[in-house]
Amino acid sequence: MSDTTKGAVPFLVSCTSGTTVQGAFDPLDRIADVCEKHKLWMHVDAAWGGSVLFSKCHRHLMKGVERANSVAWNPHKMLTAGLQCSVLLLQDTTNLLKKCHCANASYLFQQDKFYDVNLDIGDKSVQCSRKVDCLKMWLMWKAVGSSGFEERVDKAFANVRYLTEKMKKTEGFKILKEPEFVNLCFWYLPPSLRGKELADDYDDRLATVAPIIKERMMKQGSMMVGYQPLGNKVNFFRVTVFSPLVSKKDMDFFLDEIERLGKDL
Ligand SMILES: *Cc1c(COP(=O)(O)O)cnc(C)c1O
Repeated sequence: MSDTTKGAVPFLVSCTSGTTVQGAFDPLDRIADVCEKHKLWMHVDAAWGGSVLFSKCHRHLMKGVERANSVAWNPHKMLTAGLQCSVLLLQDTTNLLKKCHCANASYLFQQDKFYDVNLDIGDKSVQCSRKVDCLKMWLMWKAVGSSGFEERVDKAFANVRYLTEKMKKTEGFKILKEPEFVNLCFWYLPPSLRGKELADDYDDRLATVAPIIKERMMKQGSMMVGYQPLGNKVNFFRVTVFSPLVSKKDMDFFLDEIERLGKDL
């Protein structure tokens, strides 16, 4: 949420549905209560998590989103639409975008045409000419339907659950926290570091493990997995499981491969 330090009055509250790193969801209903009370614009960054709305089982994570003034959502993430395909939804009856961005060019978008001129959306964006990115989403939707999207979302949650449970049972893997979404952050501890958590150089040594494994996997061409530090937590791997093609066999390979590449470190 926006920072309200030193008595500054915020006019926009931005909440997140599915943070990029850990996949956390803000409590939208509770935030909407605050926004309503103080007449604040409520924006939801659902770039990553917005696709959960297709799942009857998981859409509760975004309960209250219907009270937001604006929502951003990227079908090019979890739904795997080709880059780029982004959506901005506004709850607005005042033609706000047009008021903000309209250039009033006399050679464009004549107002006295025979049809509803609100259909001319060029004047609602900063850039005027845009690619028809929504076509990709529309075609996918036609092809697999809402139930196809729902299946993908549910499969992604089931896959990350499988991977998490398997990691917990496999020596040397340590997860940062239980996944709320389909993000899984974890460390791989080579045998030389196991049980050495209290050693002075533990963090320094652990910090080198993920970058070396990543270098090895790239040079051998077997996988691509991201890593990062976070606050006082040293480099950990971060995976997001969402491709509908990922199978249990792939996830088993994933764990075996990390172990194969890192067990001598
Ligand atoms: C990916 C992501 C963004 C950025 O989206 P772009 O379309 O790349 O600008 C913003 N917020 C969250 C939570 C994201 O995961």
